[in-house]
Amino acid sequence: MKAARFHQHGPPDVLIYEDAPDPLPQDGRAIVRVRACALNHLDLWQRRGIERVRIPFPHISGADVSGEVVEARGGDWQAGTRVMLQPGLNCGSCSACLEGADNYCANYDLLGYRSDGGYAELISVPLENLIPIPDHVSFVEASAFPLTFLTAWHMLVTRGRVRAGDVVLVLAGGSGVGQAAIQVARLHGARVFSTSAPAKADRTRALGAEDVFDHYSAEFDKDVRRHTGGRGADIVIEHVGEATWDRSVRALARGGRLVTCGATTGHQAAIDLRHLFARQLSLLGSYMGTKAELLEAAAHFFTGHLAPVIDEVLPLAEAAAAHARLEAKEQFGKIVLRPEGAGPRGT
Ligand SMILES: [Zn+2]
Repeated sequence: MKAARFHQHGPPDVLIYEDAPDPLPQDGRAIVRVRACALNHLDLWQRRGIERVRIPFPHISGADVSGEVVEARGGDWQAGTRVMLQPGLNCGSCSACLEGADNYCANYDLLGYRSDGGYAELISVPLENLIPIPDHVSFVEASAFPLTFLTAWHMLVTRGRVRAGDVVLVLAGGSGVGQAAIQVARLHGARVFSTSAPAKADRTRALGAEDVFDHYSAEFDKDVRRHTGGRGADIVIEHVGEATWDRSVRALARGGRLVTCGATTGHQAAIDLRHLFARQLSLLGSYMGTKAELLEAAAHFFTGHLAPVIDEVLPLAEAAAAHARLEAKEQFGKIVLRPEGAGPRGT
C-alpha cells in the first residue's frame, strides 16, 4: 500500500509518501480501506517529536479515519461497510474499561500514536473501533468528526454538565475543538461566547457564538461579564493554556467550571486561590471521551445537528503540505487527506 510516513522527527518534509507493507489480518480486528483521514495537532507533535511517548519508526500518523471494511475477523461485518473509526484504543479488560470509562484506561492509546494510523491506504483496527456511517454522510465529513467532537462532548456534557441556559465561553472557537464545542454547547441550549483570532471571528460567530472576542488582545473575561449582566460564564472550555488561563479563570461565574483539554501556548498556569474557594470554582481536566459518548454525539452528526467544518481536502501524497498548512494556523476547520482512488468528493 501507499502511506505517508516519517522515519525521523523533524519539519513537515520528513513526511514521505512511499510504499509500506499492508497490515495483516488478525483475529478480532478489521482491515479498513482508508477513504479519508483528518489531521489533528497531535499529528504535528508526533512528527516533531516533542511528545514524551516514544513512537515506532517508520511511523504512520492519523487518528481520524473513515473508509470501507475490507476484511473483518470476528463479528458479522460485511466487506464494503462504510465506517468511521473510534480513535481511542483501550485494553477492554481493566476496571475502567469494564465500567465503560475507556478513556480512563491505563493503557489508553490513539490510532496512529503508538501504532499505525490513517495516513495510508489501509489500516488495521480492533472491531470495537468500527462505527457504521449512513450513506448520506461523506467519507470526508466522517473522518473530520470523531476526535474533536468526542473531545468537546466529554468536556461539555460529561465533565462540565452543560444545561440549557448555561453561559459557555469557548476559547479559540476557530480551532477544531472550539468549533465542535460551540456546536455541542448550542445543541444543549447554552448561550455561547467565544474567542478567536480576528481573521476567524466572523466564521466563528456563524457557528453559533453570540459574540466573539479577540483572544490575543481583548479582556474577554470582562467582555463575558458585560454580556451577562456581570455574571460570567458557567463553563469555560480551555485548551489554549498559559496565554489565556488567567482571563479564563476570571471569566467564570460563581460555581463555574473550567474544563481544559490542552495547553498549546504553555502548561505552567497560576491561580489565585481566593478565586477558587470564594467563588466555588471547579477546575476539570478532560481527555478524549468514551466510545459510548462518541456514539451519542454521532447520532446528532448523522441527523445533521452537528457538522464538522472542512477547510481543505488534499491528496495523501501531499501530507507534508497539509502539515505545513496546519502548522501555519491558516486553516479554518479540518484538513483532510485522501488516498488516491478514493473518489473526488468524499462520497
Ligand atoms: Zn482498560
